[in-house]
Amino acid sequence: METKLAVSFDESTRRRLIETVARRVIAHAEELTALDQAIGDGDHGLNMKRGFEAVLADIDAHAAKPLPDALKAIGMALVMKVGGASGPLYGTLFMALGKELPAEPTIADAARALGAAIDAVKARGKSDVGQKTMLDVLAPLREALLADKDPVAAANAAAEATVPMKAVRGRASFLGDRSIGHMDPGARSSALMIAAVADVLEGR
Ligand code: ADP
Ligand code: MG
Repeated sequence: METKLAVSFDESTRRRLIETVARRVIAHAEELTALDQAIGDGDHGLNMKRGFEAVLADIDAHAAKPLPDALKAIGMALVMKVGGASGPLYGTLFMALGKELPAEPTIADAARALGAAIDAVKARGKSDVGQKTMLDVLAPLREALLADKDPVAAANAAAEATVPMKAVRGRASFLGDRSIGHMDPGARSSALMIAAVADVLEGR
């Protein structure tokens, strides 16, 4: 479990990570909007696009910081720019990861930090796993890291697994049983970000 990741988190890697995640989210804004139109108010794509455009606008400053500080700064930008329920929650996630991760994390560091960040999101959202939210992708991601399984496959499967769930937190919960049969938008945006991180760290 102490496997060092194949890359060093130097400035050019940090820049590629930030750009790849931001561009991936922005490129999928319409899909996220469509998912949120089905079970929410249809703003998740636009919320996330606005947040990550702000992150890209400050890319030089973010990439210049060591990984923990970059994550904290990005978390603050997301809190300020994304809005909705997801802005403070993703902001909390990134800030907690920044607080917990060392500058050159191992897979074990990532799993531990993600555990703390998931707890922070749960506290902030008064939510838990199984309620059809981003947590239903983040928690399986952590399990995959701990079990040395493919994190992207786990995240994508976990996002799919939100389809039959009934929402009990967030706007989708207003729909009750009618939230069943649609993928949770926040679960999908989490899976997109995880795939983007993996593409950079695995050299794709
Ligand atoms: P809003 O619901 O305010 O319109 P967004 O559409 O941007 O905000 O984000 C919705 C997503 O946020 C949901 O799909 C879900 O994944 C996540 N979410 C909402 N409420 C919570 C919560 N209490 N805990 C965890 N995640 C939540
Ligand atoms: Mg919404």
